Amino acid sequence: MSGNPYPLGLRLAGRRVVVVGGGVVATRRVPALLDAGAHVLLVAPELTPALRAHADAARLDWAPRRFAPDDLDGAWLVQVAIDDPIAAASVSAAAAERRIFCVRADDRFSATAWTPAVTRQGPVTVAVLGGGDPRRSMAVRDAIRDLLDVRKGPLSTPAVEEGSLPHTRVGRVALVGAGPGDPELITVRGWRLLTRADVVVADRLVPGLLLDEVRADAELVDASKIPYGPSRAQEEINQILVDRALAGKLVVRLKGGDPYVFGRGGEELLACAAAGVPVTVVPGVTSSIAAPAAAGIPVTHRGVAHEFTVVSGHVAPDSPDSLVRWDALAGLRGTLVVLMGLKNLAAITATLVAHGRPAETPAAVVQEATTGAQRVLRSTLGTVAADVVAAGLRPPAVVVLGDVATALAGAGLEGFPGSPPAPGGQA
Ligand code: SAH
Repeated sequence: MSGNPYPLGLRLAGRRVVVVGGGVVATRRVPALLDAGAHVLLVAPELTPALRAHADAARLDWAPRRFAPDDLDGAWLVQVAIDDPIAAASVSAAAAERRIFCVRADDRFSATAWTPAVTRQGPVTVAVLGGGDPRRSMAVRDAIRDLLDVRKGPLSTPAVEEGSLPHTRVGRVALVGAGPGDPELITVRGWRLLTRADVVVADRLVPGLLLDEVRADAELVDASKIPYGPSRAQEEINQILVDRALAGKLVVRLKGGDPYVFGRGGEELLACAAAGVPVTVVPGVTSSIAAPAAAGIPVTHRGVAHEFTVVSGHVAPDSPDSLVRWDALAGLRGTLVVLMGLKNLAAITATLVAHGRPAETPAAVVQEATTGAQRVLRSTLGTVAADVVAAGLRPPAVVVLGDVATALAGAGLEGFPGSPPAPGGQA
């Protein structure tokens, strides 16, 4: 075929697209079609489990048989995702007869349309055609994606950022979960917002290295340095978020772990809402799951624990301010994950034992999980409080109680990815 390809952005919402084939290629092609809102007809005797799930959920129509030419009636586009050249050629012929563009995974030279390699950044879609060579188009696409990811890249200026508004109007606040400690454990969306923020308000528990991602000209507010008591400081933070957003800024409120797990994210959302400031919440990897994982402990395990409960230990069990039914928690068999629990650990463990949780229940404490300073202590419910003191463990630390704490013991997980070397830590 001669002539250069003519690029188009097809607007497929509500339009019929036929995909012939139910294997790996179709599995890779279908999600983008569904994302574009296409009305997909899948023609294939058999489907991969992933395609089957789309069919079962009625996200597409499935004709469980081989292709017939009138499958293309009413279609705007057809994608051929089968290996059999004769069957594929018959789809091509039926498509040509109906003037429907036909993408061929098996034979790019017989195709009437090529699918580009794609990368998206907010509202911008970059599509690359490599002259029919998919490896070349993917390599170019990857290079462009890297370019766009550079924080001062051409498309990362606030003017093009989705939802970022001209500075004469109200900006917005993003409550972003930074993850447990390893800077790589932030989400892609959280990272993108962080690199574009005009203002970043960061917590004490936020991985320091992430702050290197902030634009040099952005305002960085260290929330842990606000010189008032905790509740006054929270008001102050709310005020900073609201003021900056009302001045038209993109404000990222970066919080350790997940913003809504003991993170006061809800209060910040309410303060912004009351001031008419739009808020986005970007969930984070919470230490309540990631810290056990970093110590080789799954919070659930088949045949061991079918539940996990995350509880704050910052209020002592016998305090009138306690909202936690420790007596009821003692009656559970599953995993108990205690955050902010070191100070009250002796009282917490004594209460659990007093209400019937066996003292020999396995326990583990993970300090500064997923960082180079990670330390892990293994113990039992009965002795963990004393062991923590003896080992000199300090916050931030997560306490894990339950049989999962030893479920994978002996599986040779030392040095396993996800458990970084723990200098000074105990195995
Ligand atoms: N929103 C956070 C939790 C905030 S409460 C999250 O979802 O992870 C603060 C408590 O979280 C700490 O006292 C500690 O119990 C726990 N924590 C946070 N980061 C931790 C880490 N890297 N290692 C161990 N515990 C951590």
